Amino acid sequence: MSCGEPHETDCSEVLDHLYEYLDREMPDSDCEKFKEHFDECSPCFEKYGLEQEVKKLVRRCCGHDDVPTDLRAKVMSRIDVIRAGQAGESAAAEPEPAGPDGAQQASS
Ligand SMILES: [Zn+2]
Ligand SMILES: [Zn+2]
Repeated sequence: MSCGEPHETDCSEVLDHLYEYLDREMPDSDCEKFKEHFDECSPCFEKYGLEQEVKKLVRRCCGHDDVPTDLRAKVMSRIDVIRAGQAGESAAAEPEPAGPDGAQQASS
């Protein structure tokens, strides 16, 4: 899950706190570290871009910032499919979540 380059901030740490970064829930000093990391680490930057797209989509559709976990998973897998098709890469290593095919949608 890393590009193999040494970074000041570990990739796993960046990915662990990706949502805090997206939601601006972290101190400025950490934001700076993350920005630097995305500059030099394309795998993490791609992941960040994906999450950002998901958030934008959800905000546009639902008018709020909360991404329900199953919706997020759906959007992510959708984006994965699109991107895999574009790039002509083999399937991503992320396993499909088990369960019925989204027949039930959580609603409040
Ligand atoms: Zn990284
Ligand atoms: Zn890296």
